[in-house]
Amino acid sequence: MQSGKLIVLTGPSGVGKGTLLRSLLKRHPELYLSVSVTTRAPRKGEINGKHYYFIDRHQFEQLVAAGDLLEWAEFAGNYYGTLRRQVETHLQHGEWVVLEIELEGARQIRQTFPQALQLFILPPSVDTLETRIRQRGQDSEEAIARRLNRAVDEIAAADEFDIKIVNDELEKTLENIEAALFATV
Ligand code: 5GP
Repeated sequence: MQSGKLIVLTGPSGVGKGTLLRSLLKRHPELYLSVSVTTRAPRKGEINGKHYYFIDRHQFEQLVAAGDLLEWAEFAGNYYGTLRRQVETHLQHGEWVVLEIELEGARQIRQTFPQALQLFILPPSVDTLETRIRQRGQDSEEAIARRLNRAVDEIAAADEFDIKIVNDELEKTLENIEAALFATV
């Protein structure tokens, strides 16, 4: 039934997934980036329906109970999940769907969509992550500490993924991602 292709992009907070994805989608507008639901408060400049659907915990729990989420996880004190219908509809139309999700979600997708291509983006070092999270200037000290702890755990699981790519230089990283995506057509 599913004629499209599912691509999972995972990597620790601050590794630059957002920037990479923006550039990737500009170069390949045919890719569809799934918009997740989250209970996290919007950061400055984030738009509801574009970056995330911002919902409250009650709404999130209702989506879980109804089976409307393809995967979901708790991350740094908030819930994040992928809307099942959105992904399935685009796959059924033969599109390539990209999920930008954390480790627990990627593991769930591995069970339900073993054919999905799973990419993991690594930082050149953990220090660069901390610098990037701080430069973003949007997270409290507590949130930064949680994100860094989680980053160490995620990096330790990188070998579970089909392909690992170090994000040291944007253009080179993009080319590596493109090679991974289009080599397996
Ligand atoms: P942020 O708060 O920085 O936007 O995202 C925190 C983490 O949640 C990131 O690692 C991001 O990839 C992940 N994330 C975003 N959406 C989802 C989702 O739908 N499911 C899961 N499991 N993780 C998500």
